[in-house]
Amino acid sequence: MQRVLITGGAGFIGSHLAEAILAAGDAVVAVDDLSTGSYRNVSHLSGERFELVVASVDDALTMEGLVRAADLVYHLAAAVGVKLIVADPVRTIETNIRGTEVVLRLANKWRRPVVVASTSEVYGKSERVPYAEEHDMVLGPTSHSRWAYAASKAIDEFLAVAYYRRDGLPVVIARLFNTVGPRQTGRYGMVLPTFVRQALAGEPITVYGDGHQSRSFTYVSDAVAALLELARREAAFGEVFNVGGGREITIMELARLVRERTASASEIVTVPYDEAYAPGFEDMVRRVPDISKLQRVTGYAPSVGLEEIIDRVAEHYRQHPGFV
Ligand code: UDP
Repeated sequence: MQRVLITGGAGFIGSHLAEAILAAGDAVVAVDDLSTGSYRNVSHLSGERFELVVASVDDALTMEGLVRAADLVYHLAAAVGVKLIVADPVRTIETNIRGTEVVLRLANKWRRPVVVASTSEVYGKSERVPYAEEHDMVLGPTSHSRWAYAASKAIDEFLAVAYYRRDGLPVVIARLFNTVGPRQTGRYGMVLPTFVRQALAGEPITVYGDGHQSRSFTYVSDAVAALLELARREAAFGEVFNVGGGREITIMELARLVRERTASASEIVTVPYDEAYAPGFEDMVRRVPDISKLQRVTGYAPSVGLEEIIDRVAEHYRQHPGFV
């Protein structure tokens, strides 16, 4: 039995990862400061093989004991959600850089393999689609807080690769694209849970900008399967992988599809970016991953399509009235 440490283990992706690891018969210690993660995400997991430690990842003393006791570390703790990032850049920068510094230093000290979650945000506003791992990052000026997220996660990636090159730390970097599924909150701006909740409540569905911007959405279990595979492949160590997939869809089409799947009568409204986020906000026009590297190394293929994803998210909202 492996003992797996998941930072951000009470978050949306972390809790699904914990579920999968427990289902395979291993043990999980989740560490989470419950800032964007929540107890409700993991309350159903309590048992002998699951433990939740409420602490911050930059608490080096606590983290040392946890990393040392683990066989494998997934570092998912981070400030996430574009709304949160724009609203609180200090927290974003400090959490993302300091937390990763602590986790990587300890993983290196105790020679523990570590999977570091990064984000498709690091591609910035590059228009070279689909995004491949070796493409340039195209970020805007430091006066726009949004780019702090990409820059902070890029530093995390640099540090992970540097540990691998200098000390041979077994580390894999997973750049997660738009990952969706039950338990994801819309509170920090994520589009799919927001649209589904609005559609079910009969509220207007808020499309930001003109809705021509596109994304591709990955079901959380598919992303989790990729994370599990990456940790097992020696060929993945020291490497960066896009984790995503699924068909490209514009946000306006997504709004229509959500309305249709939920049989909702909600109207679809457009909201200017300045109002939705902050003056001068820049959005990505298209964000689509090239997942050939992930496929080559792990054999990965996403299995849950967008209609099914919407139905499952809607089902979650129906079963948990009041969930936001
Ligand atoms: N979005 C939207 N309405 C919302 C929330 C988000 O139209 O209520 C848009 C957002 O501007 C972006 C896309 O949906 O173009 C995806 O947003 P999200 O924050 O989910 O992810 P990211 O921007 O990181 O791709």
